[in-house]
Amino acid sequence: MTPVSGDLGQDSAEQPSGGYVGRFAPTPSGALHLGSLLTAVASWLDARARQGIWLLRIDDLDTPRVDAEAEPAILATLESHGLAWDGPVHRQSDHLEDHDRAIRQLRERCFACDCTRRELHGLDRYPGTCRDRGLPLDGNALRVRAEAKAPAFIDRLQGHVDASNRTVGDFIVRRRDGVASYPLAVVVDDLAMGVNNVVRGADLLENTAEQLLLMRMLGIPPPTYAHVPVIVEASGVKLSKHNRATAIDSRWAPHNLAAVLSLLGLEAPLDQVGTMLARAVGEWNIAHVPRARSLAGFFALTR
Ligand code: GLU
Repeated sequence: MTPVSGDLGQDSAEQPSGGYVGRFAPTPSGALHLGSLLTAVASWLDARARQGIWLLRIDDLDTPRVDAEAEPAILATLESHGLAWDGPVHRQSDHLEDHDRAIRQLRERCFACDCTRRELHGLDRYPGTCRDRGLPLDGNALRVRAEAKAPAFIDRLQGHVDASNRTVGDFIVRRRDGVASYPLAVVVDDLAMGVNNVVRGADLLENTAEQLLLMRMLGIPPPTYAHVPVIVEASGVKLSKHNRATAIDSRWAPHNLAAVLSLLGLEAPLDQVGTMLARAVGEWNIAHVPRARSLAGFFALTR
């Protein structure tokens, strides 16, 4: 998708009277690294600056990637960095019935697919192989027919995101193992939690088209989006749990916060984390966050 630069006009986040509800939704595949802390801090600040609610959801559906030790480590890191969430911890696995209901709603538009990842490797979109094969729905992945232009949308940070030159291919809504796919689960979970403002990493900008299409099919009003830059290594590779980006060391919480706050365009004198965050809430302005999709070559205090 190509963010088109231009005047963003008025920042379109939901106002307090509309009841801002934001969230942070880490995958529990490892401890938080500096990039995920940046996303957490940005979404927390955006919610708190609007007197909004900030929810925490653990995106635990991708079971092969789930590491049992990750969730307690993530919660401890958020707590030590002063990022208090509202209410209980939500988990995608709490919403399995909601996912099934949405998949049933989409059933007419879906077909079963047994293509392997290897067969589809290197294609920019699904070529329609199984569309008319009439494979049994059970035991196969379900794809929704989605030969449509990627919907354009206004991102509060990246601007007018117009990928209308890209056609979204039929995509998976239910995996072969019967579990909801990432785009389906995110759309349904955000709705179930009342989320109306999504602040997340710009690596997910591409996925937004599929999510917007699903919302259109399911009659769900889209949230407001702000995609913040992801931190990449000097080599250009995104920091991720997958490539074993170093876990944040909570003993250095004020220093870690100072690092991400300054990357988010805020003054960040070292202090107690609560004081640093309170100051940052007062100064928060999403327009000061770099509009890049990635920020390179940054080193953190890590363990
Ligand atoms: N769980 C996803 C991740 O860790 C984020 C989902 C989202 O923010 O929409 O990348």
